[in-house]
Parts: sequence; C-alpha cells; structure tokens
Amino acid sequence: TKRFGAVTAVRDLSLEIGDREFVTLLGPSGCGKTTLLRLIAGFMTPDAGSIRVGARTLSTPTAVVPPERRGMGMVFQNYAVWPHKTVYQNVAFGLEVRKVSRGDAQARVARVLELVNLAGLEGRYPSELSGGQQQRVALARSLVVEPDILLLDEPLSNLDAKLRERMRWELKELQRRTGITFVYVTHDQSEAMALSDRIAVMHGGEIMQLGAPRLVYTRPANRTVADFMGLVNLLPAQVVTFAGDDSMVAVGGEHPIAVALPPGTVAGQTVQVAVRPESVRLIPSSAAGTPGVVPGKIAEVTFLGNIIDCYVTLDDGTRIRAQVDSGRVLEVGQAVGVEFDSRQASVFSA
Ligand code: ATP
Repeated sequence: TKRFGAVTAVRDLSLEIGDREFVTLLGPSGCGKTTLLRLIAGFMTPDAGSIRVGARTLSTPTAVVPPERRGMGMVFQNYAVWPHKTVYQNVAFGLEVRKVSRGDAQARVARVLELVNLAGLEGRYPSELSGGQQQRVALARSLVVEPDILLLDEPLSNLDAKLRERMRWELKELQRRTGITFVYVTHDQSEAMALSDRIAVMHGGEIMQLGAPRLVYTRPANRTVADFMGLVNLLPAQVVTFAGDDSMVAVGGEHPIAVALPPGTVAGQTVQVAVRPESVRLIPSSAAGTPGVVPGKIAEVTFLGNIIDCYVTLDDGTRIRAQVDSGRVLEVGQAVGVEFDSRQASVFSA
C-alpha cells in the first residue's frame, strides 16, 4: 500500500512475477502503475507491505534498499541521454561509476550496443541520432550493468507510431535474448498485448485482472477490464433461460441468443453482454428469424482498408459496432442479420 495524503495510489496489492517473465502494468492515467513501479525500484517507501526479490527483502515501511543496490535497471519515458556525451560515453558511464576496468568496459559496451543495434554509432552525439536510436542508447545504458530486472515506464511513448511499433518487436526480442525479467508500465493496451507474458490491468490502485494477453482480452474479469482492453459493445439483455454454458438471453428486443452465464444468474434478470466488434457477424437479412440471429439495419459504415468498421441499429434502438472483412459491400440503411460469436461473449450483471 502507498498513500499520498488522502489518495491511496496503491491499495493492498499483491503481485508475484516469475524469473524471466515480461509483466506489464496496464491502466488509465492515475491508476497507480507508476507508483507501483517506483516502489519496486526503491524510489518510494511503502506504507504497508513488503517487496522481495528471491530471498531478499528490499522494501518494508521501515527499511528500503536504495535503487542502485537492488540489481534493477530503469528506463523512463523521457529517456534523458546526456547530450554532451557520445553514445559510447553514455553507455559506459554506469561501468565507470562501478569502477569496471577500461578493457572490460569496452567489451561490455560493444556487446550491449550490438544487442540494441547501435554498433558503429559509438562516436555519435545524441543530437546526431533519431528518437528511436536515442531510446536504444537509454536501453543500452540500463542493460550494460547487467540488471536481473529491468523496469520500464512508458519507454516508447515519445516515439512516432511506426517507430513505436518496430521498437515493440525489438524489446520483445531483447528480452528473449537477455533473459532479464521485465516489468513494463503503459496505458496502451495494444503495446501491452504485443509485449507481455502476463498483463496486470490496474484500476484505482488495485489489480483488476492478471493474466496472459489472450485471456484478459477474451475473458475480461469485469466491465472495466473489458472496456479498457480494446473496443467492446455492452448490450443490455434479459435472461430467458438459465442453463450455465447453454443459457439464453434476449437482446435487441426479444431476440434470443445463446450465451454462457455465470452461476447464480436467474431468469428475468437484466445483464450486459460484452461482445467485441470483431466477434459480431453480419449475415443476409433473409436469415433473420433463424434462432440466434437478430435483425438490424446498417447505420454507419467506414472503410478502413484492412477492415470495414460499422454501426448496426437493432429493433429496440440498441447500436452495435461491428468490424468485418473489407471485401464486404455494406450500405447505410441496408437490412442485415446480426449474429454473435457466443463463445467470444462475456456476460456481466447489469
Ligand atoms: P499516469 O499514466 O498518468 O502516469 P499512473 O497510473 O502512473 O498515471 P500514478 O502516477 O501512480 O498513476 O498515480 C496514482 C495516484 O496517486 C494518482 O491519483 C496521483 O494523483 C497520485 N499521486 C502520485 N504521485 C503523487 C505524489 N507525489 N503526491 C501526491 N499524489 C500523488
């Protein structure tokens, strides 16, 4: 637990991270992810609880091992490489401080620059590098001291979209090659999914769900997680029959669809069915009337190149977002049948 006056930034939180694991703390602004990372780094003292690495206790409310003696490296959003030092000098600095011999330092810097694809640029100054190259200098600087754990706080957010995407692959690859445990903070869900072994979705200083990207995306623990992990339709629905995985709910005005319902649900209850736009299928309107097919009308269509993004209005006015194959021909006003992939739907109490 960590409090700032009346604000509890991290609340009675427990998290165990495996050796060599890549775990991302994901959540909206103010959810406490940076505070948690700074607690792990040793920049802050917890108000309650402890932080351990292996058998070593690093933080308690009364004693905190300082950041430089925790065996952790840290990379920040504003990577702050020294402008008046060359790439080589930037990376070697941490070794000089640790009194590593010049010969050893040269070998280690060369190895780490190779690792982050900066070999050959040793003599350049940061002003002579691209944003991505500067960020790689910051990474190299953290890696050269051979940390067991690397903490990264939104390290890619100052880069343009294309570069950010490429750096994801590089970071993932780097983690595989070095075997370092990564703890990564971001508010970008696609970044979290691309990089992580497990994602901890945070909200209000707590972890709402911890799991592999696929699990968190397809089986969100609650509405907050469903909403944060990409686009989602939250459809009001009424329980028609409860039979566990083979239950029926009515959506779009009396149209029954099959879904799995959590234990304890009763007929007549109002629930919300969470369906991602890519799990909505649009079929010819002639199929309407078939069980599981809900009639609707196309309200908006946008061609996005790789997909078509559209809104469909159901009989009762409910609007559903659907993302379908870009080869489809869809027009505003067109009548369609809407089918849900019920295996991909989650149901929450309303
Ligand atoms: P962001 O993505 O915006 O950085 P975050 O999820 O990293 O957000 P934190 O920086 O951990 O969030 O902040 C969590 C909460 O603690 C927020 O309500 C914030 O205002 C508060 N907080 C953080 N640091 C301090 C501080 N030094 N003093 C007072 N309140 C703080």
